[in-house]
Amino acid sequence: MIKMKIRFLGGAEEVGRLAIKIEYEEGSFMVDYGMIPEKPPKYPLPPEKVDGLFLTHAHLDHSGVVPHYFNKFDAKFFATRMTANSIKPLLDDALKVARLEHYPQYFSGSDIDRVFSSWENVEYGKSFEFQGYTVTPHSAGHIPGSTMWHFENGRSLLVTGDIYTSDTEMLKGAVPVKSDVLIIESTYAGRNHEKREEVVKRFRERVMEVVDAGGKVILPTFAVGRTQELIMILHDLGLDIAVDGLGNSLTGIYLHTPGFLRSFKKFKKAVSSTHVIRNSRMRANALKNDVIITTSGMMDGGPVIGYVNRLKNDEKSAIFLTGYQIEDTNGRSLLENGTLELDGKVVRPQNIVEFFDMSAHSGHDDLVNFINRVSPETVILCHGDNREKLLPDLEDYEVILPRNDHEFVVE
Ligand SMILES: [Zn+2]
Ligand SMILES: [Zn+2]
Repeated sequence: MIKMKIRFLGGAEEVGRLAIKIEYEEGSFMVDYGMIPEKPPKYPLPPEKVDGLFLTHAHLDHSGVVPHYFNKFDAKFFATRMTANSIKPLLDDALKVARLEHYPQYFSGSDIDRVFSSWENVEYGKSFEFQGYTVTPHSAGHIPGSTMWHFENGRSLLVTGDIYTSDTEMLKGAVPVKSDVLIIESTYAGRNHEKREEVVKRFRERVMEVVDAGGKVILPTFAVGRTQELIMILHDLGLDIAVDGLGNSLTGIYLHTPGFLRSFKKFKKAVSSTHVIRNSRMRANALKNDVIITTSGMMDGGPVIGYVNRLKNDEKSAIFLTGYQIEDTNGRSLLENGTLELDGKVVRPQNIVEFFDMSAHSGHDDLVNFINRVSPETVILCHGDNREKLLPDLEDYEVILPRNDHEFVVE
């Protein structure tokens, strides 16, 4: 294949703000242009002009500054319909948060519009030509619409974005695609997950136990993917389930973007059995439900704060966390110290607090298995802060651990 010059503008040795720039004789492209949605957010290096921008999925750590690119330059913007539909409310929300918190403004509403006017719709398994490459998108199994990009020109390159290789309620796991060069995430290098079915079984049992004992269950949940997955996991238990926050916008998008879920029919049925909380009057009555699924997933804002405030002294009620809690977030503090900061005050909720590992990232052994099945010559590990933990299991390959801003060449 063409000699490729690769440079990470972000996300090489860290989880988040992924931005991979690839230049070759006939053109150039970037995969993802994300941020780290902390307070304040961390951004990748400034954008550089490319011919195409390929987005792996909607999460802000991959998509969050795509409008900033389009503020400076033009390019073709490739994403599945589900990803394109999903980023709109997320980018609008990121913009709103930046304004409220007085963070530096990296883009405006009209830059978001420019992203969509550059959009080229792609479908899993349907190849198209781009600057000397035949490009094929494949499902990454991570969230609906998530994409692994396969570039072929004599030799081939696969860029995974975030991947999950087991089946979930909502999606089929990612299937490896043979490639000569593989750029793969490594979030869970050195760590394995408990089996998904077992976690889900235990989670359902614990939710029922809390409700049967007269408590409520608060589920602080990411808006994209996890909200909808929890709705599917819990819908047949005969419980009253309320859903509040940004997750409802995404659920609406999933309902209007068929073709991406394992069972659209089952999803529709599950959603129709929940109570959508739309305003403060409904919020006041939402605690009549048994379960409240609400943003934000790390408890740093959103309607979850109000619910915890109202239930924090109830020993029978529970807060169950199902997503990774990054450092310096309320969720992490709750798990590690049993405390939370609510409206500027540190409080110690009296609730039952438990964590269920329902990660949407493959664990260590699944990553190794996936790499072996892609069977590349060169493996480039990114999107991880523990990447060297994979090295002993990858002795058959040339492995590159890039660092942000360092350019290297792959042939
Ligand atoms: Zn992701
Ligand atoms: Zn990610």
